[in-house]
Amino acid sequence: MAEVLVLVDHVDGEVKKVTTELLTAARRIGEPAAVWVGGGAESGKAKLAEFGAEKVYTAAAELNDYVVAPKAELLAKLAGEKSAAAVLVSATPENKEIAGRTAVKLGSGVLTDVVDITGDLVAEHSVFGGATITHARVRSGVPVVAVRPNSVPAEPAPGAAELEEAEVELSEAATGAKVVERVVQEKGARPELTEAAIVVSGGRGVGSDDFSVVEALADSLGAAVGASRAAVDSGWYPNQFQVGQTGKTVSPNLYVALGISGAIQHRAGMQTSKNIVAVNKDPEAPIFELADFGVVGDLHTVAPQLTEEIDKRK
Ligand code: FAD
Repeated sequence: MAEVLVLVDHVDGEVKKVTTELLTAARRIGEPAAVWVGGGAESGKAKLAEFGAEKVYTAAAELNDYVVAPKAELLAKLAGEKSAAAVLVSATPENKEIAGRTAVKLGSGVLTDVVDITGDLVAEHSVFGGATITHARVRSGVPVVAVRPNSVPAEPAPGAAELEEAEVELSEAATGAKVVERVVQEKGARPELTEAAIVVSGGRGVGSDDFSVVEALADSLGAAVGASRAAVDSGWYPNQFQVGQTGKTVSPNLYVALGISGAIQHRAGMQTSKNIVAVNKDPEAPIFELADFGVVGDLHTVAPQLTEEIDKRK
């Protein structure tokens, strides 16, 4: 069976959930082989094995000193050497650039923002903010596919996760742009938005930059906080918490939308949530078409009551 290379997303040696999703998708295509850039592979190995990685190719941390190009050179080299069936990366902005560069080096094609992929490499895309589903396939060479986080449910299956050092001689061009500084965003006590099991999001209906009503409900549920673009554009909540077409894609077990109308671009980032609860004072708001449970009312009244009720039951 041909190998399917999966570029691992990791922080401090901890494998991110999206990688377990990519490994699950890779198993449909061939034999998953993780590609780990930087230190910490030993600590991440168990997780990779749990989701079926047979191999873990490790590459020097030095590759992280430069902007994207070295990772593309590494992936292209491995894909060639191992006659890989495909290369999968998560569809983050950085990885999409890596995917494009890798495909150019391989003389193949790239598919980005994929929401599902079959064993014979037909990729599904959600376009026009989720209004249309398209299917696409790379017709020559090793396909490079960037899969959106939270699109493919991760399912464990044991793999050997054998570590093997991968060497790559970087071209001059690859080392042309160097990373001069990394600013780690404050993590805070809440779960990471794209990985959270519960997300509580606030929209224009919140009415001001005082998001405490949203945060209080999120904290009582142990949830992440999200925001609509209207709230972000108004400067009420930081940009990295935007959910939607031009923000993050989330797919939690529970998504609570407070004062969000349910525009198509917002839906694009949350419509695959397992349960959707909406609070909106307008009974005609489009979010109710999507919601499993809807409350027509003022969020400033409903959300605190909900928070109080949940806290009582703890
Ligand atoms: P509104 O549409 O103004 O809705 C506010 C809702 O709050 C209304 O339904 C109102 O009834 C309700 N409300 C008001 N007061 C209360 C109250 N006190 N209690 C309860 N309910 C109340 N949007 C995103 O969210 N994410 C994206 O990634 C995104 N990408 C975009 C990309 C493009 C190219 C474009 C063109 C648009 C994009 N948008 C995105 C914007 C999107 O079209 C909507 O404008 C946006 O989602 C609206 O946000 P909202 O629902 O918070 O605001």
